[in-house]
Amino acid sequence: MVEKSCDVLVLGGGGSGLVAGVRAAEDGKKVIILEKAKFLGGGMLFASTMRTFKSRWQKERNIPDQSEKFIREMMDFTMWRLDIELVKRAVYATGEFFDWYSAHESEENLAKYEPRPYVFDIPTNGQVGPQVDKFHNGSGRMFVNVMIEYGKSLGVEMLTECSGKHAVIKDGKLQGILADTPEGETVFCFDKLIIANGSWIKNDEIVGKVLPKFLEADVEKNAHQNPAYTGEAITIAEEIGAFVDWDSMCLRIMGPIAATGDRSDLDNLAHAREIILVNEDGKRFVAEPMVPRIDPFATGHILLMQPHAKSYFVYSKDMLEKIIALTKANAAKADTDVFGMPPLPDYEVVVGWMSDAEKKNPSWCAIGETIEEAARKMGINADNLKATVDKYNSCCDKGEDTEFFKEAKDMIALKEGPYFIVAGKLSTDGAFGGIRVDKDMKVYRNSGEVFDNVYACGDIASGRHIVDGGVKKQVLNDMSWALASGFIAGSKSGISSKVTI
Ligand SMILES: Cc1cc2nc3c(=O)[nH]c(=O)nc-3n(C[C@H](O)[C@H](O)[C@H](O)COP(=O)(O)OP(=O)(O)OC[C@H]3O[C@@H](n4cnc5c(N)ncnc54)[C@H](O)[C@@H]3O)c2cc1C
Repeated sequence: MVEKSCDVLVLGGGGSGLVAGVRAAEDGKKVIILEKAKFLGGGMLFASTMRTFKSRWQKERNIPDQSEKFIREMMDFTMWRLDIELVKRAVYATGEFFDWYSAHESEENLAKYEPRPYVFDIPTNGQVGPQVDKFHNGSGRMFVNVMIEYGKSLGVEMLTECSGKHAVIKDGKLQGILADTPEGETVFCFDKLIIANGSWIKNDEIVGKVLPKFLEADVEKNAHQNPAYTGEAITIAEEIGAFVDWDSMCLRIMGPIAATGDRSDLDNLAHAREIILVNEDGKRFVAEPMVPRIDPFATGHILLMQPHAKSYFVYSKDMLEKIIALTKANAAKADTDVFGMPPLPDYEVVVGWMSDAEKKNPSWCAIGETIEEAARKMGINADNLKATVDKYNSCCDKGEDTEFFKEAKDMIALKEGPYFIVAGKLSTDGAFGGIRVDKDMKVYRNSGEVFDNVYACGDIASGRHIVDGGVKKQVLNDMSWALASGFIAGSKSGISSKVTI
């Protein structure tokens, strides 16, 4: 069998693995990065919204620093169940990473950064930092490109289509990682190992243990379900006796979004506060709108409690006309609110979207002259839906939702046909947690000690979030954690005088 050796082996050439590998190489280490996919970058290629603290970039702009207040508030939010030393280290490393990256980025790209708070600080009052949050073309892609170029100049071997699959253990000692490569099975030997495989969402066995209902649910396909996210890191961690923290593992499930897809025309309409949402039985189950009143990254759990995890948005002609008028009036607010509704076009145009969706796929949208006709077309209980709409209309007349206490200002009756039903879908933004790390990103053993030579970072590493009823409560958002933890793991595994953190 082929054998290769290096000082630092990185499993996973996504956001955190690239940062970790390049940072270690900067300290003179011979680094090999194994990437399962045909391309480097992983989910980081699509990410853009981040939190950065204490960077030179922020200091130069005299941006007030809120790091310590942020840490205290986030420790409160996560019930002080996290290691504060790890949290501090990770929060401060966001800025150290950004300064380090900036030193290798072009002036042209650096000029694209604008001082803004993290996009999900609602209302916007969080730490202002550098942001380029163009959808699928923002800062994540810029980081990946810089890491690849800088890594090449440092001689980092970045091997694509190489998938790490098992630990090689001899005489009780971790010797290497067995990987599938284009040349066949290869053992990669190392002094230090950094595990950065990202999410495990495509491993049904793991998902089945963490959230079995997810496997049966109809989930919108997106880049968070990259086929490479097959969770070999968890197998390897178990083989070497690392602490796999099952309590930290969670799937983020969001929704509903319109079945026509995230960012389709109908998806905006699905965010209208005034719509009603029913399940397959034709019954309401929540005070609409769920988003933004409830953490938008958690609402999928409410949907999972419904029959077949299905949900439907229901509209009538008169309701739609009023919603359209409201969005035009609220246009200015929509510009400043992440979940704000952009102004919708005229009723005829919106109905055109509905008809197109119905023609393309009758399970996406159903239109009927009566509510029962629309319900039957969509395959939901027509009698129940009629009763639900009648009850809702009487609540609207009274100005009080006696069932779910929806805010009266958001209630519009559905009295005039045609009626429209748009199917809602679950969505996900990934699977997180698994391998427990300390403040240096060293992996814990089952015994409670840490390995001297095994690190983990990014989505697969646990330490910056807790799981509360299946919901991730986190100190740092995903890309910030990936970059900061990768930077720390790379700095620590590089062990040299350059280590500053
Ligand atoms: C569409 C999209 C948008 C996002 N937007 C944001 C955002 O705006 N803000 C935010 O905070 N976060 C965002 N994220 C999340 C963020 O991208 C991730 O948290 C981050 O990329 C995690 O870094 P990582 O290195 O752990 O995983 P990744 O960047 O996904 O890298 C993991 C890599 O490991 C590889 N791999 C897997 N198994 C193996 C194996 N056995 N051997 C070798 N390689 C393997 C994978 O192919 C992948 O390339 C987004 C993610 C996606 C997909």
